Amino acid sequence: MRKAIMNNMQDLSDKDRFVFSVDCTVCGKKWTSTPISFSKAGETVISEAKEIVYAALYQNEKQQAALKAVEEAKINLNFCPVCKSIVCDSCFMICDDIDMCVECAAALHENGELVEAL
Ligand SMILES: [Zn+2]
Ligand SMILES: [Zn+2]
Repeated sequence: MRKAIMNNMQDLSDKDRFVFSVDCTVCGKKWTSTPISFSKAGETVISEAKEIVYAALYQNEKQQAALKAVEEAKINLNFCPVCKSIVCDSCFMICDDIDMCVECAAALHENGELVEAL
């Protein structure tokens, strides 16, 4: 699931904060991660050297934030084991044998209950 999320994850970060989003493969609903502020957000860069230091720090913190976003997405989204897609709660069904997305459930004639309805 981690890999599927990373493949679908979009980077919505700006210079002050790190935010990532993942779209539901079925309905396209966008899930966004909890924004994390850059530790040097709003600080004035006084020298060219500091600018390089901050840029490196930014990349570091962004990587950490991306990992956190993946963990957060794992809790908030669902992974369909049939089509290997990431889907939201409105598009994921608890079926008798294995839980899957609504599209796969329809294609495979599986019955179940929507996660959102539970
Ligand atoms: Zn959806
Ligand atoms: Zn599916």
